[in-house]
Amino acid sequence: MSDRIFNFSAGPSMMPQSVLEKAAAQMVNYEGSGMSVMEMSHRSKVYDGIINNTEAALRRVMGIPDNYKVLFMQGGATMQFSAVPLNLMVTGKADYAVTGNFAKNAMKEAKKFGEVHIAASSEDRNFAYIPKQDQINADPNADYFHICANNTIFGTEWNYIPELGNVPLVADMSSNILSRPVDVSKYGVIYAGAQKNMGPAGMAVVIVREDLLGHYRENMPVLLDYKLMADKGSMYNTPPTYAIYMLGLMLEWIEGLGGLTEMEKLNIKKSQLLYDYLDSTDFYVAVADKDSRSRMNVTFNTGNAELDAAFVKASVEAGMSNLKGHRLVGGMRASIYNAMPIEGIEKLIGFMQEFEKKNK
Ligand SMILES: *Cc1c(COP(=O)(O)O)cnc(C)c1O
Repeated sequence: MSDRIFNFSAGPSMMPQSVLEKAAAQMVNYEGSGMSVMEMSHRSKVYDGIINNTEAALRRVMGIPDNYKVLFMQGGATMQFSAVPLNLMVTGKADYAVTGNFAKNAMKEAKKFGEVHIAASSEDRNFAYIPKQDQINADPNADYFHICANNTIFGTEWNYIPELGNVPLVADMSSNILSRPVDVSKYGVIYAGAQKNMGPAGMAVVIVREDLLGHYRENMPVLLDYKLMADKGSMYNTPPTYAIYMLGLMLEWIEGLGGLTEMEKLNIKKSQLLYDYLDSTDFYVAVADKDSRSRMNVTFNTGNAELDAAFVKASVEAGMSNLKGHRLVGGMRASIYNAMPIEGIEKLIGFMQEFEKKNK
C-alpha cells in the first residue's frame, strides 16, 4: 500500500490507512465468525454486537445526550432532504438558510411538502460567505430551521450556531461531522451522509431529538419514518451493514487519537497551514470570506482558468488527486477531511510554491 496517493476528493474521500488495513485483515473472517461482515445476517448475534458498538462509540465521541436517537439509514444525505420535511413539518412551514448547492437542493425538496421560507441566503456572492445572525430573518413559528453546516462545494462553514428561540435547528453535517466537537443539545436533528468523514458511501447517520419523533403523516414512506426507524433500531429492513461496521472502525481511530477535541486541533492546524499560505501570496486567491472559511474544503484559484487547468493537470502528475474545483465555483478545491494527514497539506503547499515560481 506504499503507492497510495494524497487524495483530495470531496467525497467519497480518503480514509485512514490503518482503518483500511484493519478492515482488510477482518475482511474474510471477522473475529473468528467464519465469515465476512458483508456476508452476515443483520439479525445475527455477531452483527448485533457490531451495530451496538458503532452506536455506542458515536454516542461517546459526539457526546450525544440520552434523549436523542441515532438512526442508520440508506440513501445518503439527499434522502434526508426528503425525510426532514416529512418528519418535522407539523404545521407545514419551515425556514431554510440557502448557503450553497446542497442547502438549495434541500430547500427545493422541502417545497414539495410544505411552505418554505428562505430565512437567509448568500447567493448574491455565489455563496462565498455564511450569513451573520443579524442577516437571518427567522420565522418564530417555523417547524424547524435548516442549515448546511459545511458547504462542501463552496468551502464555507458555519462557525456559530444561529440563535432561533424554540425553533428546532436541523443541520446537514455531511462534510464536517466528526471534525470538531458539537453541542448536540443545540440541535433538533443532525444528519450526515457517510462518505466524507464517516466511511464508505451508502449510509446516512441521523441524530434526532426524541420529542420530534412520531408526528403522524398519511402516506409516510416506511423507510423515511424516523419514529419507525427508531423503534426498529434502524432494522425495519436490511441496514447498510458494512458501512455501519466501517463507521465503527473510523470512530475507534478517532478515539485512539484522543477524540473530537484532538481531531479539531489537527483540523485547525491543517487548514490554517493552507490558508496562511494562500494569504501570503497574490498568485492564488482564496474564494471564501475569511470569517466563513471551511476547515474541510479549501477553495482557491489563480484568477486564470487556463492556469487553473494546468495546475490541476500538474498536481495529478505530482501524485495528488481530485484538486479540481466543482464546476459551480471553478478553480481548485482541496478537501482535507479527518483522514488527510498533515504531510498531504505540506506536499500540496510545496507543489503550489513550485507552480507559482514557474508560472508567475
Ligand atoms: C456530499 C453532500 C451531500 C450529498 O450527499 P449524498 O450522500 O450524495 O446524498 C449533501 N450535503 C452535503 C453538505 C454534502 O457534502
